Amino acid sequence: MNPLLVESALPDFENITIDHFEPALEQVLADNRQLVDNLVESGASTWDSLVYPIESSDDRLNNIWSIVSHFNSVLNSEELREIYKRLISKLTDYQTEIGQNVKLYEAYKRLSESDAFQDLNQAQQQSINHILRSFKLSGVALPEAQKQQYSELKQKLSALSNRFSENVLDATQAWTKLFKKKSDLPGLPESTLQLLASLAKEHGHKEGYLVTLDAPSFVPVMTYCEDAKLRELVYEAYITRASEHGPNAGEWDNSQNIHDTLCARQALAKLLGFENYSERSLATKMAGSVNEVVDFLEQLADKAIDVAKTEFKALEAFAKAEDDLEDINVWDTTFYTEKLRQQRFDISQEELKPYFPTPVVLQGMFDVVEKLLSVQVTVRPEITTWHDDVSYYSISSDGQEIAGFYLDLYARKNKRGGAWMADCRTRRRLSDSELQLPVAFLVCNFTPPVDGDASLLTHNEVTTLFHEFGHGLHHMLTKVEVAGVSGIAGVPWDVVELPSQFLENWCWQEESISMISRHHETGESLPKTLLDKMLAAKHFQSGMLMVRQVEFAMFDFLLHRDFCETGNTDVLALLDEVRNKVSVKKPPEYSRFSHAFTHIFSGGYAAGYYSYKWAEVLAADAFSRFEEEGIFNPKTGQDYKQAILEVGGSIDAMDMFVNFRGRKPSVDPLLRQAGIES
Ligand code: ZN
Repeated sequence: MNPLLVESALPDFENITIDHFEPALEQVLADNRQLVDNLVESGASTWDSLVYPIESSDDRLNNIWSIVSHFNSVLNSEELREIYKRLISKLTDYQTEIGQNVKLYEAYKRLSESDAFQDLNQAQQQSINHILRSFKLSGVALPEAQKQQYSELKQKLSALSNRFSENVLDATQAWTKLFKKKSDLPGLPESTLQLLASLAKEHGHKEGYLVTLDAPSFVPVMTYCEDAKLRELVYEAYITRASEHGPNAGEWDNSQNIHDTLCARQALAKLLGFENYSERSLATKMAGSVNEVVDFLEQLADKAIDVAKTEFKALEAFAKAEDDLEDINVWDTTFYTEKLRQQRFDISQEELKPYFPTPVVLQGMFDVVEKLLSVQVTVRPEITTWHDDVSYYSISSDGQEIAGFYLDLYARKNKRGGAWMADCRTRRRLSDSELQLPVAFLVCNFTPPVDGDASLLTHNEVTTLFHEFGHGLHHMLTKVEVAGVSGIAGVPWDVVELPSQFLENWCWQEESISMISRHHETGESLPKTLLDKMLAAKHFQSGMLMVRQVEFAMFDFLLHRDFCETGNTDVLALLDEVRNKVSVKKPPEYSRFSHAFTHIFSGGYAAGYYSYKWAEVLAADAFSRFEEEGIFNPKTGQDYKQAILEVGGSIDAMDMFVNFRGRKPSVDPLLRQAGIES
């Protein structure tokens, strides 16, 4: 029997191999198609006859797919990559097919309009509302002629988005510059020079150093290169990528793509009954209205702009004193910022590492969470995982097991970089007597311990661990029993980062730092003086950082609100207008930032870039209640757990927040915690 098809509380890692993936997925997709056909034929339209069977079959699919995509991330191989490519296209076909099933949509609709709907609980109702919403947003509810129009627009947008990112990629790769000697690149750290030397070899040069526009090359050049002319040259090539300016002017030019994308998005939004694409974007988010988002961004800008300007003046004064520089250019800011940072806040991550041995940090984090949320974390060495480095932990509350997670901490070959949390099992009711407990994958890429030495973490890594565990707790502490809105499922995009950023706060508080740090030789916890230095460094130029993020968010949001084929189509003028309000230093006229803004033109962030700041505000404001009442106040912790973590996506996100905070979110705590407001 295929171990992926055996229903079990935890995956059978001892026996699962990648050969099981394809047959298991095909079996489940076939079963699910059959089930949906039978259900719509039978006219089922109650929770028990329609929603629950589909939820169960989706969950079975999810339990298999979570393993496939997890293996693809942590045990990658050529062979698996091929399988994965095939399977993802089968899965996408299936999802598109279900999403376009009119009869299924009508069955859900009948249920939502029936008297029986009122008898369902909050989570059940919310889950059905979400299902209906995605049917509507995918055009299923439209009359036949408009449906055709909708799918044409969708196809057009997908082609445009591909072309946009291909252009950015091609334009990025097209520009390189070879330098013969190290001294041609004054100031670059040895590690960067090594990288540039290997890039030169890769590109077929016998020797020398190759500067490219990819981040590992571009960022160090802007940060450390002492030759201002050279920085300018690289900056110009970078900021004109995929546009009508710069060294490759007109080639891979995204100007028309931007125009066409915005036209098609507005048409799509109108077709679905929205005023504009920004309003369409908000249909699935916490933010209630277009004006609410604009006001929100303006508030942040208004409050941060003066601080940002003062910070910029300080930078100018520093550059003047340092190099007698009269006018600081855009390509100078990163360079002088780094110099100033080193001078004022000389604190390196390496210096902090001895205080954070991995086992101490882990146990400390579990202790913090126990103190904060009254849940216990226990390692379960008897449970088999996919690698010797990986451990399984269970979480219990009042002596009862409520969830579990796999922790895969260290970097290794064939494992994707970065850190993330993903779901392995979602909490849901299986029967009157049975519950599926939530299980998470927590994955990081820390440096593994070498030859018996202790594994030590930088403070950045400690923060990352807390961040991902925050996501994990959101998934695992839920009390919801309906999969579609359980844990992180169904949580709006602008809210998902709340619990993760929230938990990071315990990496910056004296009281909790003492729980998670212990010098691996002296045994002392991180001294207060070092923590103060870290906090000062954290606040460095936070005003400038804030207005820059607001600039991106405001540009994105106003663009998707105001652009219209018959009127305002001047993207650059709009960007300029935003910059007049929120920027401390205008880039040169040739700058074409918009032409490589892949987040909004080929990623998922269209009219959603504001979400970054929105979630930060929620997290900071939620934490401010702990600042007021004590960071380990058990009542506050209990309230947080109940109001935010337990409800998952089952209630309206604004109601959820107000339930915890007693009022709507305020931007002030974020500004205060960032050192912008006192
Ligand atoms: Zn996150």
